[in-house]
Amino acid sequence: MRELFQTHEVFNQSPPFQDVNLFTTDPALMDAVERAGAGHAAHQLSRFGATCGSAEALETARLANDNAPRLRAFDSRGERLDVVEYHPAYHALMEISIKQGLHCSAWEHLADPAGQRRAGATVARAAGCYMANQMEAGHQCPVTMTNAAVPALLLAPQLAAQWLPKVLTRSYDKTLRPLAAKAGVTIGMGMTEKQGGTDVRANTTQALPAAAGGPGAEYLITGHKWFMSAPMSDAFLILAQAPGGLACFLLPRVLPDGSRNALRFQRLKDKLGNRSNASSEVEFAAAHAWMIGEEGRGIATIMEMVTATRLDCAVASAGLMRLALAGAIHHCRHRSVFQKRLIDQPLMQQVLADMALDVEAATGLAFRLAHSFDRAIEPKAAAWQRVMTPVTKYWVCKLGPGLGYEALECLGGNGYVEEGLSARLYRELPLNAIWEGSGNVMALDLLRVLQREPEALEIVLDELDAEIGGDAPLRAHFERLRSLLTEPGLLDSRGRDLIEGLALLAAAANLRSHAPAFVADAFIATRLSAVPRRSYGQGLAKANTRAIIDRALAA
Ligand SMILES: Cc1cc2nc3c(=O)[nH]c(=O)nc-3n(C[C@H](O)[C@H](O)[C@H](O)COP(=O)(O)OP(=O)(O)OC[C@H]3O[C@@H](n4cnc5c(N)ncnc54)[C@H](O)[C@@H]3O)c2cc1C
Repeated sequence: MRELFQTHEVFNQSPPFQDVNLFTTDPALMDAVERAGAGHAAHQLSRFGATCGSAEALETARLANDNAPRLRAFDSRGERLDVVEYHPAYHALMEISIKQGLHCSAWEHLADPAGQRRAGATVARAAGCYMANQMEAGHQCPVTMTNAAVPALLLAPQLAAQWLPKVLTRSYDKTLRPLAAKAGVTIGMGMTEKQGGTDVRANTTQALPAAAGGPGAEYLITGHKWFMSAPMSDAFLILAQAPGGLACFLLPRVLPDGSRNALRFQRLKDKLGNRSNASSEVEFAAAHAWMIGEEGRGIATIMEMVTATRLDCAVASAGLMRLALAGAIHHCRHRSVFQKRLIDQPLMQQVLADMALDVEAATGLAFRLAHSFDRAIEPKAAAWQRVMTPVTKYWVCKLGPGLGYEALECLGGNGYVEEGLSARLYRELPLNAIWEGSGNVMALDLLRVLQREPEALEIVLDELDAEIGGDAPLRAHFERLRSLLTEPGLLDSRGRDLIEGLALLAAAANLRSHAPAFVADAFIATRLSAVPRRSYGQGLAKANTRAIIDRALAA
């Protein structure tokens, strides 16, 4: 009977892309980490790379996405439950990332009152996130937010003293218990309301002081949030209108006495991608929260968190692009068409190499940004962080969807089928550009630097000027950018020209200084010197495409 159905032999299909070390097969990543001062972490990153690329982890990721979280708003008797249930696979992914310290490792020096910031800590963490996103992107949302909440929490010393010790453990504790009983905690963020996500000044959620009010004091929060991801986090940093203006609050899910805080989850978003992660609509009915910073300083306070998440958006998008590319290269190395492997077909070589140029450029920029976070006490690094956070987030995240699509097409029909990785990546890739400040908002942020901190932009331009030296195409691009800065009307209509121009310059200069010549030459020739293209695979006839591809996915 069994033999009746054995009609054919399956051949010429690429084996699954799994049991791959996501660190040691990625020379561009290893170089970026070394360059940005975290070479000391190479050994542990290599171990983590093997974990993230293992067949077991990738299967866990599939399960977490095929079994999306569910809201249980009420129990069978009509009592409110307000819990979101996740598949065990999601919790397993959280365990992996939290054990690696991706939610806290950049802050572990805070556990020791005399502790100094550890050299390369942000970069090493970013490398972990780059690979963890390749393992599975959705669970990285609470991981990212927890890490990013720390600088905001530090503005409220009393709250920080209570919460930080639990953030800094590498223990994942999914239980719904008060802080004192938890082995470790995660922290989410609630800014976006129905009437506005960018324009948070329009927030209508109200905060009334429970007693005297003021920094660190207790308030009662009433209102809603339209997107609040990772709703099972232990606390959220939220914005609400206090009597003295918009303020930032820490709102725990369980109160110190063990009772539930008044969060009413309305429903979960049915999202294009990012399906393992829950994103809720929530209402607060006089929920208890404690103020971080001052009344009227809410945006400045939560920006501490937002800036850190913007770095993670860039790192995540670079990682996701790298996985899309690696999957495409892997497939083309195994698949033959017309008696020749796809990897040996000249047109395919150009497509793959062209994508690899963007991935290396994006990775380089993202890790240079991470490096500036590590060194932000130095004025040059602080200027890079301020200027290049919106620039890097904008450019790297915008590359993602187009690259994801092209990589998917390399797999032909298999790329379009949900069982493979490409479809999930394709649905995931637009997200990093949207949250934490969408494209135009990043351009506007750069223009804000121009208006309010022009000296920071000058420092960055001086650094790039010195770096590009006499390289003719880079110099010509630099001069174009300089003249753009003097154009009338720049602030009204040329924001995207400026942000893209600066990103391209920085990406190219970074490659010219640090990448092999076959990468830098091809990137500069196709992105800075040639006619604009609309798709990948053009202008690389003379490039060493084989070397570029082999660097993108080393054996
Ligand atoms: C999956 C997912 C999860 C999310 N999780 C969270 C979360 O946990 N917490 C949270 O607070 N939010 C969350 N968000 C919300 C997200 O941060 C917002 O959607 C985002 O900030 C944009 O806000 P908005 O949707 O209100 O769009 P709008 O602010 O209305 O913006 C719409 C568009 O207009 C553009 N725009 C805005 N202002 C200008 C301008 N002045 N000039 C030109 N263009 C402009 C924007 O770039 C954008 O493209 C999540 C979103 C998604 C998709």
